[in-house]
Amino acid sequence: MTDCLFCKIVAGEIPSQTVFEDDDFFAFRDISPKADTHLLLIPKKHIVNLDDLQPEDEALMGKMMLTVPKLAKQENLEGYRTITNTGAKGGQEVFHMHFHILGGSELPGF
Ligand code: AMP
Ligand code: ZN
Repeated sequence: MTDCLFCKIVAGEIPSQTVFEDDDFFAFRDISPKADTHLLLIPKKHIVNLDDLQPEDEALMGKMMLTVPKLAKQENLEGYRTITNTGAKGGQEVFHMHFHILGGSELPGF
C-alpha cells in the first residue's frame, strides 16, 4: 500500500532501526519507546489489524507468534509484554498490523 508508513519502512523509503527481517516479517525499534526495549514486529504484507485477517493468513500469524520469542531472545529480554492495538478505539494509530514487544525493565502492572 503506497500511503502506509510501515509499508514505507519495509520498502526502505523511511529509515528505521531495523532489528530483524526475513521473507515475511520486519522488526524495528519504536520511535517513541515506552520501555527500555520497545520493538515493533510487522508482517511485510499490508494487513490493517486483527479485524482484517483472512483465513489464508493463518500460517502467517502462526509464524508471527513464533517470531516474538525469537526477537525477545535476540534482545536478551527475560520477560516482555506483547500488545497489538486494533482500531482507533483500541488505540491503534498506524493502520498496518503490528505487535509491540516491550521489555528490558520491570514493566508496570497492566
Ligand atoms: P499504535 O498506536 O499501536 O498504532 O502504535 C504505533 C506505534 O508506531 C507507536 O508506538 C509509535 O511510536 C510508532 N511509530 C510511529 N512512527 C514511527 C516510525 N517512523 N518509526 C518507528 N516507530 C514509529
Ligand atoms: Zn502497510
